[in-house]
Amino acid sequence: MSLTLAAEHDLTAANTLGLPCVAAHFAAPASLVELQAALSEARVHGWPLTLLGGGSNLILPERLPGLVLQPAMGDWWLEEGEGETVRVHAEAGVVWHELVMALAGLGLWGTENLALIPGRCGAAPIQNIGAYGVELCEVLEALQVVDLADGRAAWMTPEACAFAYRDSVFKGRLAGRVVITRLALRLTRSATLRLGYGDLAARVGETPTPLAVAEAVSAIRRDKLPDPARLGNAGSFFKNPLVKDEQAKRLLAEHPEMPHFRQPDGRVKLAAGWLIDRCGLKGLREGHFGVHDRQALVLVHFGGGSAGELLAFADRVATTVRERFGVTLEREPRLPGER
Ligand SMILES: Cc1cc2nc3c(=O)[nH]c(=O)nc-3n(C[C@H](O)[C@H](O)[C@H](O)COP(=O)(O)OP(=O)(O)OC[C@H]3O[C@@H](n4cnc5c(N)ncnc54)[C@H](O)[C@@H]3O)c2cc1C
Repeated sequence: MSLTLAAEHDLTAANTLGLPCVAAHFAAPASLVELQAALSEARVHGWPLTLLGGGSNLILPERLPGLVLQPAMGDWWLEEGEGETVRVHAEAGVVWHELVMALAGLGLWGTENLALIPGRCGAAPIQNIGAYGVELCEVLEALQVVDLADGRAAWMTPEACAFAYRDSVFKGRLAGRVVITRLALRLTRSATLRLGYGDLAARVGETPTPLAVAEAVSAIRRDKLPDPARLGNAGSFFKNPLVKDEQAKRLLAEHPEMPHFRQPDGRVKLAAGWLIDRCGLKGLREGHFGVHDRQALVLVHFGGGSAGELLAFADRVATTVRERFGVTLEREPRLPGER
């Protein structure tokens, strides 16, 4: 099998915001050998590299120079672990939600709360995906990376990945230096229910299975979030801000109904969507972009807009929140090459 390199490749349909983007060069390597061949090609030509998964957490510019690499290794398999545990190996190109549903269907617990998060396995560790009280790092046993500079493969432990809320070493020190090629996850055959978020418990019945939980999570998400296939979006556009206890107390004195979640480190996590909503911005539309009318944390693209316009719109939303509440919102989706 040989690697195909495409020139002037259109990525408009490859990002869930639907932003128009053309890659100067594009490759979707289907094996480690093909990936290493693509990296050599980039080195020979001096092309900058951009990594692309499902494009659900990226804000793409109109043109990407160099080589865009979308790992397409798409296998996953199981290995018996100790006791009730099962190790799952998943390559970078596996679609995350499809893996979650397949594992849930096999009666394996661990990833069911993370159903319907768009994207591919290779990108899941980048921001340590999380939903419904669970984060990827809780089931991740190890991951394989390939060094973009010399094409060498190595395994990393979760500790080395420095996982935190929507964060990891891949957004910091290792940003733009490695491609994640495989995940090793630890799931279990015995129930590990985490139903504390929202009305999940009410939806799954008396004796839930992993599949029932994954289906309930998917149903709730379908109700709440716009489908990128119909309306361009990147999910939550801002992280939930973490503020100091004093600031949370001041805000709660004024807004006792404000949702807030105390963290083990003493800080308090606020709901960015609630803050945006309280500024009266839910449903706001300006030009090609808007704040979703059911979920204020999601910015939507009605078509015809650019990355620059989106960033300017997001900035207006964040400025309004800062002026009203004194809270700074941090963007979640990233620009290519951003640290
Ligand atoms: C409707 C919707 C709902 C969402 N809900 C959630 C949610 O509940 N929780 C949550 O955490 N996220 C959520 N997201 C965000 C997004 O789905 C996740 O961040 C997902 O992991 C991104 O995967 P991707 O394959 O689309 O990555 P991309 O958007 O393609 O890439 C994201 C980043 O990872 C890098 N990258 C991609 N592949 C690799 C690789 N193999 N190796 C190294 N770097 C790589 C890219 O360069 C980029 O910096 C949501 C998004 C949408 C559109």
